[in-house]
Amino acid sequence: RAKNEGRNRACIYDAAMDADLSERKQLEHDLREAIANDQLRLVYQPIVNGSGDTILGVEALSRWTHPTRGDIEPSQFIPIAEHSGLIIKLGEWVLRRACTEGKQWPGLSMSVNVSALQFRRPDFVDTVERILRETGFDASCLELEITESTLIGNVDNAETAMHRLKSIGLRLALDDFGTGYSSLAYLRRFPFDKLKIDKSFVRSIERSADAAAIVHAIVGLGRGLGMRVTAEGVETAEQQLFLRAAGVHSMQGYRFGRPGSPNLISARLAMPGSHRSIAKDAAALAG
Ligand code: C2E
Ligand code: MG
Ligand code: MG
Ligand code: MG
Repeated sequence: RAKNEGRNRACIYDAAMDADLSERKQLEHDLREAIANDQLRLVYQPIVNGSGDTILGVEALSRWTHPTRGDIEPSQFIPIAEHSGLIIKLGEWVLRRACTEGKQWPGLSMSVNVSALQFRRPDFVDTVERILRETGFDASCLELEITESTLIGNVDNAETAMHRLKSIGLRLALDDFGTGYSSLAYLRRFPFDKLKIDKSFVRSIERSADAAAIVHAIVGLGRGLGMRVTAEGVETAEQQLFLRAAGVHSMQGYRFGRPGSPNLISARLAMPGSHRSIAKDAAALAG
């Protein structure tokens, strides 16, 4: 009996694995088509100053509306893109699109997420340079967001690439800070311009003294090392007040606007006093 049960269980397990695998394969196939046929789009989320009244920049975020399944979350399709190698094509498309669409908002900072696999390619810096040249986007308005996983086991190459990117004139941000295998040595060694406090800490600020302490520590660390600090996932007035008092330079979250179409961003920027040009205010440079 035990033997049979074991066998049945193994069968069910295998069937589930197969289903998962073919599901993934199908999505991978569809994603390949989506990239080739321009079925992806970018939405842009405002990044604002501490008082929340000035848009300093936007973060570009990928969106995929599948022809039959509807909207698929980046948390689902980005890992598929990474596993399949499609992230290289996707990442290039994202950068080119963000630079092309971003040109209609001169002076605004444009943040673009870069996956570890993309960043580790020996030709990554060349690709960035080429896209900047082809689109005519101002390098000083571009900020690339990478996560700690990009640096792990790749310290020397990452350092070289980062210095080359900085010499082109763009800025570098460490995304989701505090969630990865953070090493304080990384912060000293790599030329980051900005730390982005992960939204998991922001979410807990009001009810967790630990989260509040961590946020204070990250702000102190970032500021002490001469970096800008942004908070992600700001949803409430209380969170905003706390973060502002803690000394965060800029914020991003549903409180200040969900990611939206280029038209939506343009409409917001058209409101008087809604944004400050990087060129006009060097202090806002790193947003
Ligand atoms: P991320 O780079 O940390 O982006 C911020 C995420 O937080 C976005 O999720 C955004 O919609 C969400 N968010 C913003 N404000 C709030 C808020 O107030 N509350 C909550 N709960 N969430 C908020 P999204 O667009 O689903 O993207 C998830 C992740 O997928 C991104 O996290 C990024 O790691 C990745 N991603 C998205 N687009 C791209 C892309 O073009 N390339 C790469 N490599 N990764 C991308
Ligand atoms: Mg990001
Ligand atoms: Mg993040
Ligand atoms: Mg992330």
